[in-house]
Amino acid sequence: MHDALRRVFGFGSFRPDQQESVAALLDGRDLLAVMPTGGGKSLCYQLPAVMLPGTALVISPLISLMKDQVDGARANGIRAACLNSALPTEERAAVMRSLLDGELELLYVAPERFALDHFRELLGRLEISMAVIDEAHCISEWGHDFRPDYLTLSSIREIRPEIPVAAFTATATDRVRQDIAARLGLRDPLLVRASFDRPNLSYEIREKEGGDSQLVSILKEFRGQAGIVYRTSRKGVNDTAAMLARKGFRALPYHAGLSDEERRRNQDAFIRDEAEVVVATVAFGMGIDKSNVRFVIHADLPRSIESYYQETGRAGRDGADARCVMLFSQGDIPKVRFLIDSMLDEQERARALAALSKVVAFASSTLCRRRMLLDHFGERYPKENCASCDVCLGTREVTECTTEAKMLLSAVIRTDSRFGSGHIVDILVGADTKKIREFGHDRLAVYGAGKERGRVYWRRLIDELVARKVIARSEGLYPALYPLDGALGILREGQRVEMVRIAEKRREKPASGKVSADGLPADRELFDRLRALRKRLADEQGVPPYVVFSDRTLHEMASRKPSTPEAMLDIPGVGQAKLTRYAESFLEELRGRS
Ligand code: ADP
Ligand code: MG
Ligand code: ZN
Repeated sequence: MHDALRRVFGFGSFRPDQQESVAALLDGRDLLAVMPTGGGKSLCYQLPAVMLPGTALVISPLISLMKDQVDGARANGIRAACLNSALPTEERAAVMRSLLDGELELLYVAPERFALDHFRELLGRLEISMAVIDEAHCISEWGHDFRPDYLTLSSIREIRPEIPVAAFTATATDRVRQDIAARLGLRDPLLVRASFDRPNLSYEIREKEGGDSQLVSILKEFRGQAGIVYRTSRKGVNDTAAMLARKGFRALPYHAGLSDEERRRNQDAFIRDEAEVVVATVAFGMGIDKSNVRFVIHADLPRSIESYYQETGRAGRDGADARCVMLFSQGDIPKVRFLIDSMLDEQERARALAALSKVVAFASSTLCRRRMLLDHFGERYPKENCASCDVCLGTREVTECTTEAKMLLSAVIRTDSRFGSGHIVDILVGADTKKIREFGHDRLAVYGAGKERGRVYWRRLIDELVARKVIARSEGLYPALYPLDGALGILREGQRVEMVRIAEKRREKPASGKVSADGLPADRELFDRLRALRKRLADEQGVPPYVVFSDRTLHEMASRKPSTPEAMLDIPGVGQAKLTRYAESFLEELRGRS
């Protein structure tokens, strides 16, 4: 296994969970693996596919993904091909021939093939090493992108009962996981659940200033590197993309309102490193395996923690440092509320509201971002300080607010936990409303006790205490605040509460990209030359640049400066096939002018 890992992929070690996944498949055992984006799922089946006799069948939902995977596998010298409706007849015939001749190690197909009788009949006759279902959550109606044609995949068990079936997904909920296992008829599968932590991503939330200059100055830190700017509305996308283009960035828009042709063109330009920034709505991202996305900026509030995780997850798939920046403004909340309030379906509205309040709590919290994200997925982050989020790096001002927290809890408790944030804040600031008079809340000791602080302060404190699980909001359309166990710690045990002001401060760490994956300062000028060479070779071969080598591999080359083929082979990501194909050009570049 380790030999093949080195020879084919050029990696010296497995990532956590890859090794047991590979071993299970080599043993002929079914597998259900949940790993985050960038976790290295492809290697889990590509490696055994190379080692086992026969062809591994890989079912993948999108043609663009398939093509990317095939390009990537071929670049590593794996005999891979795909069959789908987009393929010209001639090419399809050629793929069929090599398939029938047993020449393929990997065959990618779209799920709808399984509905075709002749394809199923063909599967019965070939030597198949295993069946792999990528993006397996598509088979579950509980998942976020259910695809009815995935249901036909259950027939693989009847056609080839003896081969192992492996399902891969980045969607972690138990319900989806059980659904996948049941629908595919997995038999005593090995269950692998990797951590959802993405250690190479840094998270930071900045107070949104409004206006263009903030975004422009952030993007300047990433000059020449690829990234995504997410915005909520199509208009926002168009405006921001146009503004950035005027300022000299190679920025392109992407949203569902553009023609198919324009979307495809913009996406391709991004994948081929020809546009550095895509400004997009959430419509962008699925079906993109580009591994050298170095930053993701949320210029508006994400709609949920899940989507924030998924969208930021598109950065740094190659394992090299990447940054996630969210621009947050309390002022954006009413805009989103307005959109939510206009939803017709009551359940949907309640769900969207709950998701929004979690995002707000996340953004305004003083707890480690990473810890909160993982907590959301039911995972405990073991370290006290992650050293790569704005909270842990201490770029924020902390203020003590224990007294205020006590006042707030008192207001909640004295009103029997029956009222929502708005009314509680009214009590604290001593507002004169009909509701206050009707309930006699102007007679409470806390009435008006917090009037030196504004409403915004109190709302932030509420979000903070919700995030810390001191209080919670009840379900439903008119959520009331109620105390949780954490409240006792503050009221009785003298626990302190601190709140953070989101401060705009310079990071001390240099922007990612100037630092190699292992933290060594890389030669930036050399890196840029290697990158230009990568782009040239990629264009010649009609593949995306990251298929030639990942950013991480280029960083390693730039810092270690190998001078012989043997030294080149030691660079992570340089396997036998890539050595043969590319080493000479890169060695020349490294030698020639460095
Ligand atoms: P996923 O499908 O889980 O999102 P991929 O299979 O696309 O992730 O892999 C993401 C990146 O991680 C790729 O650039 C891949 O080359 C790299 N990678 C995978 N396994 C390893 C490993 N053991 N060591 C170093 N890099 C790896
Ligand atoms: Mg994948
Ligand atoms: Zn942290």
